[in-house]
Parts: sequence; C-alpha cells; structure tokens
Amino acid sequence: MYILVINCGSSSLKAEILDHRTGDRVCTVKAERLGEPEPRLTIDGEAFALDTKAGHEVALSLSLPKMLAKLPAGQTLSAVGHRVVHGGETISAPVRIDDDIEAVIEEFSSLAPLHNPVNLVGIRAARQLLPNLPQVAVFDTAFHTTMPRRAKTYAVPRALAEKHKIRRYGFHGTSHSYVARLAADYLGDDVRNLRMITCHLGNGCSVAAIEHGRSVETSMGMTPLEGLVMGTRSGDVDPGVLLHLMRAEGLDADGLDNVLNKESGLLGISGVHNDMRDIEEHAAADDEHAQMAIHVFTHRLRKYIGAYAAIMGGVDAIVFTAGIGQNSALIRHRVAQRLDFLGARFDEDANRKVSLDHANPVAEISTRHSRCRLLVAATDEQHAIAQESARLILELDKVSSELTIPIAVSARHIHVTREALDILYGEGHELTFRKPLSQPGQFAAEETLSVVGPKRTLEGVRILGPIRPENQVEISRTDEFFLGVDAPVRASGDIENSPGVTLIGPKGKIDLTKGLICAWRHIHMTPEDADRFGVKDRDNVDVSIHSSGRNLTFGDVLVRVSSQYRLEMHIDTDEGNAAELEPGVVGSLAATAGTATLNRRKTSHHSFASNSVTSDVSDIVQ
Ligand code: AMP
Repeated sequence: MYILVINCGSSSLKAEILDHRTGDRVCTVKAERLGEPEPRLTIDGEAFALDTKAGHEVALSLSLPKMLAKLPAGQTLSAVGHRVVHGGETISAPVRIDDDIEAVIEEFSSLAPLHNPVNLVGIRAARQLLPNLPQVAVFDTAFHTTMPRRAKTYAVPRALAEKHKIRRYGFHGTSHSYVARLAADYLGDDVRNLRMITCHLGNGCSVAAIEHGRSVETSMGMTPLEGLVMGTRSGDVDPGVLLHLMRAEGLDADGLDNVLNKESGLLGISGVHNDMRDIEEHAAADDEHAQMAIHVFTHRLRKYIGAYAAIMGGVDAIVFTAGIGQNSALIRHRVAQRLDFLGARFDEDANRKVSLDHANPVAEISTRHSRCRLLVAATDEQHAIAQESARLILELDKVSSELTIPIAVSARHIHVTREALDILYGEGHELTFRKPLSQPGQFAAEETLSVVGPKRTLEGVRILGPIRPENQVEISRTDEFFLGVDAPVRASGDIENSPGVTLIGPKGKIDLTKGLICAWRHIHMTPEDADRFGVKDRDNVDVSIHSSGRNLTFGDVLVRVSSQYRLEMHIDTDEGNAAELEPGVVGSLAATAGTATLNRRKTSHHSFASNSVTSDVSDIVQ
C-alpha cells in the first residue's frame, strides 16, 4: 500500500508518501516557518514559493497534486496516516478519523497545546483535500496506555488529578514500539517474549520499559518535559525548584515554561549548545560545562535503565535509537559500559563501528556472551505510522464484531505439580474430581490449600486439575491486597520473575519461590474461532459487553488460541462483581489492539483499565 504520512509541527510540516511494507519513499515534502513572513517549502529537495504567512493548509494543498503525480503509474494512495501527539487516556491504538476522533484530539489540546491543534489543522486539510481516503490517527501516547496505574499515577490529591487529567501518559510511543519490533526481529524472537528498555535519544529524549511487547513504564509523563535530559528541556527536577524560582525570580507560568522547555537541558548546562554534536566537540576541547552536560545526560539515563530493569525483574535487550542514540558512540559508551550486573557486556569495538542503513537497521554492540543484548536501531516514525495505518485498514475489514463470545467469571485458584501435591497432601495423593471446567480436560478438585501472604492468609483456595509441570497461584487484585503481596499481571504459564508465596495443605507446607500472578484477562478460542474473528494467538483485543442495562468494554484482552480450547472469555471476580454480569452474558470484539475503535468512548458507561486482572479458569465457585 502507498500511504501518505503527515506530521505537522507548530510551524512545520513533513509529508511523505511511502510504501508501508518497505518504508521506501515515493516523495518527501518539507515545509518550515509556516505562518511566518518567509515560509519555505521543498518537494524532494526542490524549492517552491509560498506566499508570506502561508499556513499548513496552503502548503498541503500546493504539495498534494505534485506528490500524487510521483506515484508509480497506475498506483493510488490507500490511506493517509497522521501523527497526533496526545490521545489522552481513551485512545490506545491507531484509529480511523471521524468527527468524534477530531473532538478527542481537540479535547486533549490543553495537554499538548503546541501539537494537537496543529495536528488537527493537518487532519482537517487532508480530509477536505482527500475526502474519499481513509484517514488514520497514530498517537504518540497510545503505546503507553498499557502502563499499570501505579506507573501512571502522580502522588497528588486525587480530586485535582481527576479534574485536570493529571497523570502520566508518556510520548514517543510510535518510535519505542517500532524499534522494539525491529530489535525483536533482529534477535529472531517475538517482542512478546522479551523485556526491553528502549532509549529514544533525539531532540526529545525518553526511555521506555517494554515487557512482553507492552509499555510498562516510560520517562515522559503528563507532558514531554519529565524524565531524561533533552536538548533544551530539563527532564526531572525537584518540583520544589519551581516553587523556589517563582518566589525568588518572580517567574509566572509562562516564565517557568520558557526556562524548563527552552533554556534547560543540554543547552542549560553547557550554556552554549543544544546539539549533542557540538556538546561533544566542546567537551573534547576541555569545556567543563559541556563535559558536565554529558555527565548529567548519561547519568540520568543509566539511572532510568537500572530502575526499569528492577521494574521488569531483568532485561533481555537495551536498544538505543534516534539522532543521539544512533549516532553517538560516546554517549552509548558512557551509558552502556559497566552494566555487567544486568548481564549486559558492552563491545567497544562494535560500538565504534555502528553503521545503520535501510537494509541493516539494527546493529549489536554487546559481546557474544552477553545475556542482555545491547542494540542500536534506526527509528523511522513515518514508516511506523504508514505500517500502523495500513494494518488498521486491513484489520478493520477483517475483524468481526458480529460474533459473540460467552463470558465466564473465574475465582482464585492454584495449579500444582506432582511434587507439591506429595508434600501438601501426602505421597501419591491423587486429586479428587469435583466439577468439570469449561476448558476441555480441566476440572476443579475437592482439594483446597491455604495461601499465606505477609499480611494475611487466604483459606480454602481450590486446586485445579490435572497436575501441571509448574506451581502457579492465580489471584485477583483484591486478594493481592488481602494477602499483602504484589503479583504481576501475566498470561497463565508465564511465571518467570513472579513472586513466591507459602502454600499449606493438610500434610505439609511449601514456600514457593515464584508462581504468584494476577492473570491477564483473556479469551480461549480454537484456530477455527480465531479465523472467524479475524484474530490470532496473543493478539490484544477489546471486548464489548452489554449487561445489566450498561455497555462495558474490557480493554487489552489477550487472545489464546489452541485446538484444546473452547470459546470463552475469562474475567476475574473483581471484574465480574464490578460489571454486575447477568448469567449467560456474551461479548463481542470491538477491535484488535492494532485497530482500536472508539466503541469504548462512545458507548461505555464503564470501562476496565488494561491493568486490571483475570483468573485463568472459569466455572469455579468461590
Ligand atoms: P532526532 O530528534 O532524532 O532527529 O535527533 C536530533 C539530535 O541528534 C541532534 O540534536 C543531535 O544532538 C543528535 N545527533 C545527530 N547526529 C549526532 C552525532 N553524530 N553525534 C552526536 N549527536 C548527534
């Protein structure tokens, strides 16, 4: 497919037609100083005249016919993809643009005043000029909507946070997810099996913790000002500094905005430059301020890498990208050496030789025996937007929202190994069949165990049969707080780096070292079901449910496909209680994660955040 990708900045416009698969460019338009006395426009490097103060619409309407003329003979555009900075909490994936979506982008203009309004100008112009083409919005914030609430929440009064939508959203999501996929391809693995830290180091800088393909932390917050040191932005500062500056310097909001966004970062510390190339040159010439800028920049990033490794319980790959990440061997050296404690062994020689191009977008800078791989990857946000737009168009045609899925509420439960059962119930004890479960071959046993946490004990937690190769205890968030433990949201069976817990049976006790999880809400289906629904194993989908007179949407539902399964969605008791589900309730697919629709916003009175939890098996009575 040929996709037109439009990226509007406050006074600039970048528009490209590209092949969504290869990323090859058909035509590139750049406009700068729009709305100013001397605007500039180039199309594939050739300059074109613009009237004084010409804006985005004028630049776009002048360029479009020339761009379309460059398409190969007989080829047409399939869609227009727009980069949009802020999608707020509601939008977790690329969306097809309609008037409702425009309203959401407008709504979040207050949180991204420099970007969203101008993104809308581009969208409106393109919709007018190309009314018959699907238009897709790809949001910088969307990838980070999977962050758990603990990572999204600032410790400020809740009422204020709710009133002003104060929470962490994260940015650069398109780039983080693109390079994570590139890196996974390079490693010959699926991004959903890996824990990665991606470092986007360009004019703006951010770092993300990506666990099994989902963003779980990122350094930018409510605005792109939090986190790493950037060209002119401060990144993290003690909020007390702002109060002090207001009092001591008499600065108001605009004054602070200027200091923190435009006069800080590399520029602020070095006093002369915001470009890392200049900083490096001055540092080499013994400019102590430039040296300090590099020290602070790399120290801050190392601090985040350590923190994110701790959050994910380890890291399989650290990826550097964007202008500084791809080009500065010095910065990579300072950040990535002495990370042996994480299993990352830096290869200085490889670091110096990094050279990326279209055919080789990833280079490795760790030694052969490095358990955690250090990679450099070429980001390409325009290509990512083209890919996402094409995927949305294709999948919207495919996903069926007509078919229904039975919903089952499942309770806390335990899977045990042969060895565990021997200890807990006595040598050779066999589980007693109590009740079949909906998934073929699974059953609830008569046997129960006590689960002992640091705070309290859950009595009578049922064992499910048959026995399994690994012990696993699945609880809800409410159980988690009752026990006093912190269990990660995981797919069943994915228990690496999960905490342990103590199990007590009539004959003995076991201290598990791992296996305690809150299960990711999921749908079991057969390969035939997956075909009918237009999804595949491990896709994330949204499921709409109508129950007790309300429309609900469960976001971030994991699809699990096996010929052993029977079609059913599993939610846990917390969710079941909150949803007041009627017996026999069914759901339907809203979209895959790559194809979110606004069903949630349009119809929901209630939606469930992506980090709430499910349990693995249905039909169990607590
Ligand atoms: P981006 O926003 O990804 O275009 O990155 C732009 C930034 O990358 C520039 O401001 C430079 O600081 C940095 N950069 C580009 N090339 C180099 C290089 N060879 N060495 C150090 N920094 C570089």
